[in-house]
Parts: sequence; structure tokens; C-alpha cells
Amino acid sequence: MLRTVLTRTFPRIVSPVARQFSAAAIPAPNGQPDVHFNKLFINNEWQDAISRKTFPTINPSTGEVICQVAEGEKADVDKAVKAAKDAFKMGSPWRRMDASHRGLLLSRLADCIERDAAYLAELETLDNGKPYAVSYCVDVPMVVKCLRYYAGWADKWEGKTIPIDGDYFCYTRHEPIGVCGQIIPWNFPLLMQAWKLGPALATGNTVVMKVAEQTPLTALYVANLIKEVGFPAGVVNIIPGMGPTAGAAIASHMDVDKVAFTGSTEVGHLIQQAAGASNLKKVTLELGGKSPNIILSDANMEEAVEQAHFALFFNQGQCCCAGSRTYVQDSVYDEFMERSVERAKARVVGNPFNLSTEQGPQVDEEQFQKILGYISTGKREGAKLMCGGGVAADRGYFIQPTIFGDVQDNMTIAREEIFGPVMQILKFKDLEEALERANDSKYGLAAGVFTRDIEKAHYLTNGLRAGTVWVNCYDVFGAQAPFGGYKASGNGRELGEYGLNNYTEVKAVTIKVPQKNS
Ligand code: NAP
Ligand code: MG
Repeated sequence: MLRTVLTRTFPRIVSPVARQFSAAAIPAPNGQPDVHFNKLFINNEWQDAISRKTFPTINPSTGEVICQVAEGEKADVDKAVKAAKDAFKMGSPWRRMDASHRGLLLSRLADCIERDAAYLAELETLDNGKPYAVSYCVDVPMVVKCLRYYAGWADKWEGKTIPIDGDYFCYTRHEPIGVCGQIIPWNFPLLMQAWKLGPALATGNTVVMKVAEQTPLTALYVANLIKEVGFPAGVVNIIPGMGPTAGAAIASHMDVDKVAFTGSTEVGHLIQQAAGASNLKKVTLELGGKSPNIILSDANMEEAVEQAHFALFFNQGQCCCAGSRTYVQDSVYDEFMERSVERAKARVVGNPFNLSTEQGPQVDEEQFQKILGYISTGKREGAKLMCGGGVAADRGYFIQPTIFGDVQDNMTIAREEIFGPVMQILKFKDLEEALERANDSKYGLAAGVFTRDIEKAHYLTNGLRAGTVWVNCYDVFGAQAPFGGYKASGNGRELGEYGLNNYTEVKAVTIKVPQKNS
């Protein structure tokens, strides 16, 4: 049973991380994890919002309120930034801490998350709606691996000695930037938190993080673990709240030295503007996409169908890198379509705590309505609805796995990010045409290529304007490999060694060297 769940939910290549679970048992969920933390985490203390305001967080499977959460606003952000700034002062425990010890704290944080994996996976599923088997076998293990990976970097991110002209000794120091604002989305709440905290803390920064209003709960639980393992007060501060208030306060704060944002391209514009209008803080952005996935006629068709299905439908279609423009070569188009429809119809949608569920609800009512709106637009603009297209349950935000055929490049559903379980299949004739059409997008986050021909694979991987290209696989992530966007999909890279650059100032120090003893 478990093996079936895992191979269906994550096809075998999906994630080296999920693979380790194929022989293990997933602890049975009870579906009702207790919520222990629902306040602001500032200076290692739990605090109410200054305004005393709260907001409800919703279970998307039912539409019911899970609990109220403190709603941070500008005044709370000011408080958190002050705590982070104090924690960053020269001579503070954090600034005096050995780099190796910073690494040890990150490593201990990973250990605690691993210890509490089953609880965290349940809480993630309750708040976000993703299948528990995925939370437990993919999200949480990837969080642990990310933190351990960056724990290792803490005392290895070295500067250089540089042979400049003249009698000088020149070297570089890699220094932390300072107070980092981090604004994260709801599609991978725990994982986005780890992607942001790992490199920021390994390099010695302090953090004020705003978590998404839809999914604040797991990040707050992790905040408590941050305290438990011994990070000094003020190093990490977590503020649940709304984007236009708490988020905007971070982006425009004069004492925030850098802001890292993951979310919509629309808000990415606002973040960059706020940085420009305030203190020119450094900005990294990980934004949307409309990623092409190109299936050539020589591909292994069974693999290509399964992977293209996974590329789009994984995480309820709520992935920034979703392969949402599936380009299929004309000679295999009919076969690919038929098999893809069959696969989509077999997708198990329902209670995310059920271990055989592949697809849970969309994250909230707003996303649910937005996706249904795109489905109507697709039909109106003349795309052919091949399956799905409707609501999948009488409560909660469930949508049927949906496929559109005969999609044209200029249709709204082929240009805009839908962020839901809606697949667009487009037909192409030759490679040049596929490449040109694939690149004809304002986005450039990821791309996929399915072929057995190495020359065609090279031609396409070199030509695709995207930060990640997967060949004969999709959504394969490792903490070691960089991820980020070309064009309007973002600025900078997360993960890997490249991810450290975004959290580092490089200082060149030049010292005159006397040539003889005098
Ligand atoms: P969003 O508004 O961009 O949310 C991302 C984060 O930014 C959230 O924490 C959000 O707060 C915050 N935010 C919103 N407005 C802000 C502002 N003016 N200043 C600072 N921070 C702000 O995304 P969404 O509204 O949740 O989803 C809309 C669309 O964005 C989706 O349909 C999808 O296309 C895209 N999206 C992309 C990703 C990704 O991984 N690249 C993730 C999520 C969504 P709130 O929680 O209050 O909104
Ligand atoms: Mg929003």
C-alpha cells in the first residue's frame, strides 16, 4: 500500500528525498494536530500584536477556522527589526559566535525538525491542504536536508587573498549583510522558511520573516525550535500578518538591509519599488513562472506522460516552477493527450490525511475562485476541455484535475500563471519552433525536455531561457543546486553555494606591506 502511494504520489525520480521512505512506514496521522503557537515571535518571546488584532487561519479541506493568529503590522515589524538590529550589533552573542557554532545550531534545528517530523507534517497538511504523505515524505525531509546543507557551509564560506599590484596584502572577507527581511508564500510554508533561514543564518545575518497569512502555523512551531536549540534572542523574528501591512513595512523599512521575497510577480514589483523608495536595500526575488515542458516524439512516452503529469499537478498545481505549458511534438500529440487524460482522471483527489490521496484542496477560497475563473477563460477563448473543469467536492477548495488541448500561445491560459491543477497541452512541429515558442514568455523560471536524443537535449537546454532545465525528469530539487529565475521570474538564486552570495557583503581589505624592516 505504502509503496503504491509513494510511487503514485511521487514518481520514482521525483525526489531523491522521498525515495528513502519507500520501505519505511509513515506514522499514521490523526488529522487533528494541536496548535501550540499562534503569536508573534520577537526577541525569542511570544507576543501579542501591539494592536491586539488577530486573524483566522483556515483549514482548506473544510473551510473551517483552525484558530486565531496574532496579526503583526508596522509597529510590530518595527519592534522585530529593532530586536534583529540589536542582535546584529558588534560584540553581541551572535556576532561573537564561532561560525562553526552557528553551523551547529542550524544542524540542531534540523535534528529537532526531524524529531517532530510527524507533528509538523500534520500541521502543514491541516493549514495548507497538501497531502500528509507529501508533507511527511517530501516537504519535511527537504527542510531537514536544506538546514543541514547550510549548517555545513557556516565555517566554509571563505574569502580570497588577491595578488594586486604594489606592496600590498589584499584579501576579502565575506561578511553578513545585516538585518534580512524575508517574506514567504503559502505553497511550501516549511520549505520556503528553510530556504530563507538556511543561507541567512549560516552567513551570520539576523532575520525578520513575514509568513503567509494562509499558512502561519508551522513556521511558528519552528520558531519555538529555534529558541529551543539556542539561537540568541533577536536572531530570528517571525511575524504572521498581511502583505500590504506587515510585508510592506519590511520592504520599506530603513533598518532592513536586505529583503528576500518569494511570491507573485505582481508583489515582486512592489517589493523592488519599496526597496528603491526607501534605503535601496538589496533585493532578491523568486517569482512566478509559466514554464514550458517540451515532449519530443522520441521520448519514452510512459515516462513523459507521468512526468508531465507530475510537473503540473504536484502540490495541487501550486508550484512556481510548474510545467504549465506542455509542448508536444505533433506526431505523438494524440497518444500523449490520450494517456495524459487517462492519468489525470485516475488522480486521487480528496482528504489530504488519507494516505492514498494525491491531491488535496487549493489553499484558499481566493485561489479556488481564481483557478475556476481561468478554466472559464480557457473554454471561452476556444481551448478544448479534455477532462475535469469543475469543483471536486461539496465543501473545501477541491478542483478536478483539468486538461486543456488545442491550446494556442496567445490564449490567457497559455500566458498567465494559473497556480492550480490545470494543464495546457500545445502542439509543435520542430525543435526551432518549440524553442522559440517556449522562450516567448515574460517568465523564465524552469523548463523541461523529454527526449532520448542527446543532441536535441543539448540544443534545447542551451537555448532555453530559464534558471533550471530538467531533462527526462521534472521538479528534481536538491539543497546543493541553485534555483531562481531569468526575466520576470526573479533576481538572484536560492540554494547551493550560489545562495550564499545573496546573504553576503564582500569586503576587500588592503594592507600596505613594508619591504624592509626599518
Ligand atoms: P503574494 O501576495 O505574492 O504572496 C506572497 C507573500 O507576499 C505573502 O506573504 C504575502 O502576504 C506577501 N505580500 C502580499 N502583498 C505584499 C506587499 N504589498 N508587500 C509585501 N509583501 C506582500 O501571492 P498570493 O496573493 O498569495 O498568490 C497570488 C499568486 O501569486 C498565485 O496565484 C501565484 O500565481 C503566485 N504565487 C507564487 C508563488 C511562488 O512560489 N513563486 C507562491 C505563492 C503565490 P499575504 O500572505 O498577506 O498575501
Ligand atoms: Mg496575497
